[in-house]
Amino acid sequence: MKIRTFLIIAALLAFLAITYFTMTTGTRNRPPAVANKLRVVTSFYPLYYFATQIAGDKAIVYNITPAGAEPHDYEPTTQDMAHIEDSKLLILNGGKLEAWGDKVKNTLQNTATIIVSVGDDIANQKVIEDGETVRDPHVWLDPVLAKKEATTIADSLAAVDPANANFYENNATQLLAKLDALDQKYRQDLSSCKQKNIATAHTAFGYLAREYEFEQIAISGLSPDAEPSAKKLADVTDYVKKHNIKYIFFESLVSPKLAETLAYETGAKTLVLNPLEGLTNQEIAQGQDYFTVMRNNLKNLQTALDCK
Ligand SMILES: [Zn+2]
Repeated sequence: MKIRTFLIIAALLAFLAITYFTMTTGTRNRPPAVANKLRVVTSFYPLYYFATQIAGDKAIVYNITPAGAEPHDYEPTTQDMAHIEDSKLLILNGGKLEAWGDKVKNTLQNTATIIVSVGDDIANQKVIEDGETVRDPHVWLDPVLAKKEATTIADSLAAVDPANANFYENNATQLLAKLDALDQKYRQDLSSCKQKNIATAHTAFGYLAREYEFEQIAISGLSPDAEPSAKKLADVTDYVKKHNIKYIFFESLVSPKLAETLAYETGAKTLVLNPLEGLTNQEIAQGQDYFTVMRNNLKNLQTALDCK
């Protein structure tokens, strides 16, 4: 009886030892299924969304700018850099959206990570800021230009993982059809509006405004954290009064204080116009994505532009 108990305990200990050994070696070397998957890093939310829609279960996509942060001023952490160096493809917007873009290009010079700036060729609008002519990087807010970014993402995925090229192409076709439908809806819903001007928190909607033929004036410049001067605030106030603007737009990732002050001084109301530079945790919990935010933006634009 005693020998039997001893044997049972010995068998149990052997089992536990084997389990422990398997578990510890498992954490040291990644499980094969994950290790074999393509690793991709994106700089901020819209590119992350497009990449996940196109890559599906064929890649692990890591997004640099975290929920609740915006990409203009974000600095990658050591952990972010490790993710980038561990990936086959780094997808940036370019056009100087990512302040860390040039630095990371130098760091990755002699590594296997391929960098693609999907907005670089299409960010062709110039803005004068503090007396300097700079490129506007906000191309993802125009569905027509977003299609070009999505196409470049699909092509880049196919280039680094040719075995799944057809899979990426099929998913891209579906995403492009949804972007086409979004473009049609914008065109239709903004076709008959009495107002031609909007006032926004930062200069994010230049490409959208060009595509659907309205004008934007912004409280801050191309980056939402740039504090406007007293003269700039006075100019915006005059513009809002002169053009009879009834709604001042603010953003979920930036304090609404300046928009509220401007609204108070001009007798206007405030509304959200989301530049999609990142979702908040609350928006993620609500199941928001690129398309739900873009449709909500359209609804608020229709109100502000006084459309039929
Ligand atoms: Zn911006």
